[in-house]
Amino acid sequence: MLKYLLLALALIWLFYSPALRRQLHKPSAPPSPPPTPEAKTPPVQVMLTCAHCGIHFPQSEALTLTHNGQSQHYCCKAHLQTGPRSR
Ligand SMILES: [Zn+2]
Repeated sequence: MLKYLLLALALIWLFYSPALRRQLHKPSAPPSPPPTPEAKTPPVQVMLTCAHCGIHFPQSEALTLTHNGQSQHYCCKAHLQTGPRSR
């Protein structure tokens, strides 16, 4: 009876030891390099509001018209030509 118990324990040990060994080896494994903050965060884009339709768009796509010392930004050429929406 004891023989079977020992055999069962041996089988259990054989079954679990590779998993245990892998778990023990985990901390020594080289950690993956942390992602650089530059790669994660996109470049900061200044958002502007179209003077005509009021949508927000990045500054890089803006069409700017300076009128009486005031800069007005437009989302597209059509809105630039139409001008600011009358309020
Ligand atoms: Zn617009």
